[in-house]
Amino acid sequence: MVKNCPHCNQSTEPEPGFYFGAMFISYAINTAFFLIVWTALTLIYPDYSLTVLLTLLALTVILLLPLTYRLSRTIWIYIFVKYKPEIELEN
Ligand SMILES: [Zn+2]
Repeated sequence: MVKNCPHCNQSTEPEPGFYFGAMFISYAINTAFFLIVWTALTLIYPDYSLTVLLTLLALTVILLLPLTYRLSRTIWIYIFVKYKPEIELEN
């Protein structure tokens, strides 16, 4: 992760431990993925076993980890840092 935004020089880590709260965003995102996987499995293969469900959920979390990690951090910093389009560094 870059230290500062290349466009506006906004620090991407305003303080130590800033992204602790992103865990809760990540939790919400993963819950949404769980519901999607569970619903899809129930519709496609209604006689699934618990092992199949847990395996699919674990695979979903592992495979989507790069996405959820970055997405939750992005959402978290957007909550606290407002976008100011007038601030633009000259490259
Ligand atoms: Zn920026």
